[in-house]
Amino acid sequence: MRLVLVGPPGAGKGTQAQFLSAHYSIPHISTGDIFRANLKAGTPLGLEAQKFMDAGELVPDSVTNEMVKDRLTHADAANGFLLDGFPRNVAQAQVLSNILNEKKLPLDAVLELKIEDSEIIARLNNRRSIESRADDAEEVIIHRLKVYHDQTAPIIDYYRTEGSLITISATGAVDEITERAITALGNN
Ligand code: AMP
Repeated sequence: MRLVLVGPPGAGKGTQAQFLSAHYSIPHISTGDIFRANLKAGTPLGLEAQKFMDAGELVPDSVTNEMVKDRLTHADAANGFLLDGFPRNVAQAQVLSNILNEKKLPLDAVLELKIEDSEIIARLNNRRSIESRADDAEEVIIHRLKVYHDQTAPIIDYYRTEGSLITISATGAVDEITERAITALGNN
């Protein structure tokens, strides 16, 4: 299963990705997690990414694309993967298509988690009080939502045209959403 998870910040991508990667026995590849791990370890990549992450901006494609290209060559991704947080704009989607076309391994599905902005703001305010992520501050959340609508949402049309898009509602209990996702992914 080669799967991409798309949705606004706070849609529950990370949580659903953990369940789906276990269900399908595929690695969960989160670009946000890789950036945060690099930041924690103080690597040059982490330091480069930090200023963009703290501001709620996308890390430049040149940095992100190389990181993903490298990650997809790891042995655990040979039989499938779940990408969470990548691609985040149409240029990244094109890079991913090129990587996979070269390997003749197309995506099985792009799963969109759909949710209203008002619910996201409420959820992320809650996450901020639990996880204290710098990029969950309210003004940064509002900016991240704008970045999502301006830059990331166009990939939904890209994948709809390609025929791989599956959309589910991301409201409700976590286990209900996982059920919904697995049902929607069907025999993929
Ligand atoms: P996330 O954990 O997916 O919400 O990502 C946290 C932050 O990491 C984002 O707000 C961006 O600053 C950065 N980031 C994660 N994935 C990408 C990506 N595909 N392209 C650019 N920046 C990204």
